[in-house]
Amino acid sequence: MRNSEKSQGQLLEEQLLYSTKNIWAALDELQKNKVFDFCEGYKSFLDKCKTERECVSEIVNIAAQNGFADIQEILSTGKKLFPGDKVFFNNKGKSVVLAVVGNTGFSCGVNIVGAHIDAPRIDLKPNPVYEDSELVMLKTHYYGGIKKYQWVTIPLALHGIVVTSDGKHVDITIGEDESDPVLTITDLLPHLASEQMQKKMSEGITGEGLNVLTGTIPYNDENIKNKVKLNILKLLNDKYGIREEDFLSAELELVPAYKAKDVGIDRSMIGAYGQDDRVCAYPALQALLDLDRVPEKTCICLLTDKEEIGSVGNTGAESTLFEDFIHYMCALSSFKEDLKLPLTVLAKVCLRNARMLSADVNAAYDPNYEGVLDRRNASYIGKGIVLQKYTGVRGKVGGSDANSEFLASVRLLFNQNSIIWQAGELGKVDQGGGGTIAQYVAKLGAEVLDCGVAVLSMHSPFEITSKADIYMTYLAYKVFYNWI
Ligand code: MN
Ligand code: MN
Repeated sequence: MRNSEKSQGQLLEEQLLYSTKNIWAALDELQKNKVFDFCEGYKSFLDKCKTERECVSEIVNIAAQNGFADIQEILSTGKKLFPGDKVFFNNKGKSVVLAVVGNTGFSCGVNIVGAHIDAPRIDLKPNPVYEDSELVMLKTHYYGGIKKYQWVTIPLALHGIVVTSDGKHVDITIGEDESDPVLTITDLLPHLASEQMQKKMSEGITGEGLNVLTGTIPYNDENIKNKVKLNILKLLNDKYGIREEDFLSAELELVPAYKAKDVGIDRSMIGAYGQDDRVCAYPALQALLDLDRVPEKTCICLLTDKEEIGSVGNTGAESTLFEDFIHYMCALSSFKEDLKLPLTVLAKVCLRNARMLSADVNAAYDPNYEGVLDRRNASYIGKGIVLQKYTGVRGKVGGSDANSEFLASVRLLFNQNSIIWQAGELGKVDQGGGGTIAQYVAKLGAEVLDCGVAVLSMHSPFEITSKADIYMTYLAYKVFYNWI
């Protein structure tokens, strides 16, 4: 039927009903190629950055190559910030903020895209190494919300740092190079698992049972009791110069040892560890780097740590890290309109006038588990960036709720710029829920909306996303940064 032949009802339906679009169906071949190209960059970012510290060091490197200066170094130089200037703030190597100064003063507000760069994983305990029956094992303590049974019998890599008591930083990565060994957590054979299989899934594998198989060769000395343990500690000492006590001041994280992969015969998806929330962090960063002119408003990319355990500590979003950054920027302002205000007032005005997309993932509809989502309010992979008005559990507890006025203006912005988006809510009302970093910036007076990528198998060692959504999210964040 040609357009002119549409019935009155069909035309009315088009006009009045909310509908979603499959991005792939809306793209031409050239645009599809851009999607695939962009996602190659994303996959290599995922492979390089499996911990929050690795994310920060990679991002700081990229920032430096792109002309960003360390704001902490500028603070004492008397230098001021002018339109087009680029700065970054490395917060203890675990969270990072980047900004491109716009044409208008900070008192006019700033455009922020904020994501987190930590991900659920398995950390080593402070005293992890023990020997049992001539097997050396490592005790662990998991981080964030994991389904423990997903983490056994997969290849794991050990990433992180050890700080020795004389202050030396030792970087450790075992399991990423093709020639590296990997570590793993064993599971029970089915033949002997009848008791285990009767248990609830949350109890079949316990936290205290997530011990990592690490070695079996004994140190050759009959006078030693734990020969295999001594041999492992010797290998670690030979290679890294560390002793057992040094584990106490270490941050060592076990993550899946495999690389990001294309998923699907049509290669439309990506399967990888740590996509919550690097699938939003990477587009947020890339959109900032790719700004093709000096933006009207100052654009800020906020990348935080500790979101998966409640945004706590001095590297999480609940800390003063973002406020401190805003204060640093305001102290360096060269804008006439800003200089009329005392510094503390300027920072407050800046935050009150700020707009933020809290860039975090949403649970995508999964045909295998349709019962847990309200299909009319769920998000779907391949249907665009997800606008989530509110988060929280049960009666929206512990979440953030975007003001209608702000959400409406973002909707208009996206519609005017051909951004394909969808509405989404995380699960049925009484099913569960979650929070993001939105509330911690909203608390400062900014308008904040949760807005990110839909994910399947979220928090698993192999999370799934749609390449089309990732690229659309990049375009959406770019449009948002350029918002006047
Ligand atoms: Mn997240
Ligand atoms: Mn999460």
